[in-house]
Amino acid sequence: MSTQLPLVPGKPRRKMPVKHLADFDVDQRKEAVKDLGLPAFRADQISRHYFARLDADTDSMTDLPASKRDLVAEKLFPRLLTPVSHIETDSGTTRKTLWRATDGTLLESVLMRYPDRNTLCISSQAGCGMACPFCATGQLGLDRNLSTAEIVDQVRDAAKALRDGEVSGGPGRLSNIVFMGMGEPLANYKRVVAAVHRICDEPPAGFGISQRNITVSTVGLAPQIRMLADEGLHCRLAVSLHTPDDELRNELVPMNTRYSVAEVLEAARYYADKTGRRVSIEYALIRDMNDQPWRADLLGRKLHSYLGSLVHVNLIPLNPTPGSKWDASPKHVQDEFVERVRAQGVPCTVRDTRGQEIAAACGQLAAEGVSDEAKAGGAEAPAN
Ligand code: SAH
Repeated sequence: MSTQLPLVPGKPRRKMPVKHLADFDVDQRKEAVKDLGLPAFRADQISRHYFARLDADTDSMTDLPASKRDLVAEKLFPRLLTPVSHIETDSGTTRKTLWRATDGTLLESVLMRYPDRNTLCISSQAGCGMACPFCATGQLGLDRNLSTAEIVDQVRDAAKALRDGEVSGGPGRLSNIVFMGMGEPLANYKRVVAAVHRICDEPPAGFGISQRNITVSTVGLAPQIRMLADEGLHCRLAVSLHTPDDELRNELVPMNTRYSVAEVLEAARYYADKTGRRVSIEYALIRDMNDQPWRADLLGRKLHSYLGSLVHVNLIPLNPTPGSKWDASPKHVQDEFVERVRAQGVPCTVRDTRGQEIAAACGQLAAEGVSDEAKAGGAEAPAN
């Protein structure tokens, strides 16, 4: 049963799950094991199981006192996410996982295999409150923030499945993480930053994935972009701009009414200066909406003036979502758009569109749409 607390009239609010090892930093883990009556060094040992061996099953942690394993399982490894389904497409190179959290909340993550890297697209919230009209998740509204451990466990599961050869294409290593699944990562700021540390810190503190291979994607919460710049991290920042003018952006990305294009680009510049990293500008190209030649020129000019050489445009052909009146632009329009942006001295590439048939492409994640069966528990996959 879900634990819904109707704190806001008419809008159910869900509670955060219980704490898990992956919620804690290294010092907090020592405290947590002491609370269980174990010496502090056990924190390190337990962390190695989770972050280095990708194991959350205490039965296999044979270096722990047998009498304490059940307690450790209960207090540090509560099962947070249960896979409801795995669906593959693109000849097995794309795999979407639908998860159910302990309170019934549904969320999704998508693993994409490329010749040179394996990328996991993770969710930071269940649903999303940003209401971008072309995005399926945006139509759901926000269900709740995910806890740090719920974010991190999506990564552990994918890394383990890859390592163990459970994904088509044979054994592999998870190399890249993009916060481009459900939710607005910078609206769940503290938990997302903690998750980045767990993902990147060297084992046993974290999984040890390079910060340079992590992308945090945002609608453009300008103050949080600056905060992230000041964290001393080296993640890539992606800003979902989608148009260079405020008038249309107010419609495509409603948060623009709070933080204008200029404010977002100034914050992006701050991020680039602080981290030395190029900012990615995401631009979902929508037919007859934001694909005009003059918009390409304006985009290139603005980006060049705000960010100089510290920017790159990622064009995403729109993935039409059910019920949407919008569509992708024709190929020749897209080609001209790319050329015009480049002509302003701004690198521009077109993102490949993975996962379209299984609703796993950019902006198509909308777990609520398949939730009836999942809520009834009809399709539950085996544990771990
Ligand atoms: N809230 C974050 C992460 C969202 S998903 C953000 O907005 O950046 C990652 C990217 O997919 C965003 O750039 C988002 O605008 C884009 N996107 C959403 N719906 C899409 C769609 N239907 N087609 C193409 N891209 C889409």
